[in-house]
Amino acid sequence: MKYKNSLNIIKIAETLMPGGVNSPVRAFKSVDLSPVVIKKAKGSKIYDIDGNEYIDYVMSYGPMLLGHSDERVIKAIKDSAEDGFSFGATTEREVELAGLINKHFPSIEMVRLVNSGTEAVMSAIRLARGFTKRDKIIKFEGCYHGHSDSMLVKAGSGALTTSVPSSAGITESLSKDTLVAVYNDVESIKDLFLNHKGEIAAVIIEPVAANMGVVLPKEGFLKGLADLCRENGSLIIFDEVITGFRVSIGGAQGFFNLKPDITCLGKIIGGGLPIGAFGGRRDVMEYLSPLGPVYQAGTLSGNPICVAAGIATIKAIEEDNAISKANEAANYLLKNLKDELKDFKDKIAINNISSLLTIFFKKGRVNNFEDVMKSDTELFKKFFGIALNDGLFTAPSQYEAMFLSSRHTKADLDKTVFVIKKAIKEVIG
Ligand SMILES: *Cc1c(COP(=O)(O)O)cnc(C)c1O
Repeated sequence: MKYKNSLNIIKIAETLMPGGVNSPVRAFKSVDLSPVVIKKAKGSKIYDIDGNEYIDYVMSYGPMLLGHSDERVIKAIKDSAEDGFSFGATTEREVELAGLINKHFPSIEMVRLVNSGTEAVMSAIRLARGFTKRDKIIKFEGCYHGHSDSMLVKAGSGALTTSVPSSAGITESLSKDTLVAVYNDVESIKDLFLNHKGEIAAVIIEPVAANMGVVLPKEGFLKGLADLCRENGSLIIFDEVITGFRVSIGGAQGFFNLKPDITCLGKIIGGGLPIGAFGGRRDVMEYLSPLGPVYQAGTLSGNPICVAAGIATIKAIEEDNAISKANEAANYLLKNLKDELKDFKDKIAINNISSLLTIFFKKGRVNNFEDVMKSDTELFKKFFGIALNDGLFTAPSQYEAMFLSSRHTKADLDKTVFVIKKAIKEVIG
């Protein structure tokens, strides 16, 4: 049996860990399958414990822009480990990573390293509230900013002015301080600013949304948003945990030539090891302890091994022109998918920017969460199972991106197009 070992391990895992996983999407719940258990990965390929090989488009949900197990990053991790694992004191490597972040993100005049994207966002929000002395935050429906309490909020049914927790365990009083707007709709934000004059500390956004599938900002949307924030004395926070060092080496802000007040980073800046960062305007960052009144700390923050992996990753990206390579792979994939899927163009929509791509099982354009939710998840479910069985490891959810890396080869992409076409033919007919 093709998945025998995986099935056995998952059975045990389910008795020891909720859902058998340490992060919910890994449980394959939305596709009604038992997950494959991973043994190892190299370059564009990932292998399960039954020895099945897949072309990987999950890429750890973003960090592996260089492909898996890059030799330079392995060496950096080994070398750093030889020097010790954690000190509770500053190291030269942290300063080097801060310098690299500042070099590519000029808006990040000062930075603080943390351990995850969630932590970066949580701390950025506290900082924005402390700096502006205001309580309310605006986020966008369909954007994901990690799992801190303030961010697990969705629009209430009916009016956009009410928001409700999107998870149990979040107090209503906290959720009331997070307002929810519609992606690509400047008017929806104008309304919120009008109804909450002088109360909005910050607007947080994924400048390219990649957690409801890939949804691109319309021309002028981000600029309009930034202008509104400035007019209202609110900070604008770009959550570039996915887009940073991917959409361009300077992230989405480099791509669109915009300068947020605060930026959150994660994923690629740790090259696959746990890390996060938030940074921005010097006057804002100086509000952070020990300089200012906003408290934030971490025993393992700036961990030398994670930082070493991040430095090696960023240097390898520079050296290899890895972003262009990943973009070329995505362009090739997109072009060939469009050619091969012509017959289905009224049944699917493909959104793409740089090395991020989503195939939606939905007709017409996908510009916001409401559009995304019109996707046919039953079709996706069948599609996913066929693609997995034929050797493609994609996210087990319609609402995720395919992540390309600099290591996806033409042969990988040709096989991918073949498998996707076969699967779509089977499910749509
Ligand atoms: C992944 C992600 C996060 C959360 O990062 P974690 O490291 O998983 O906590 C936050 N924001 C965005 C845009 C993300 O994609």
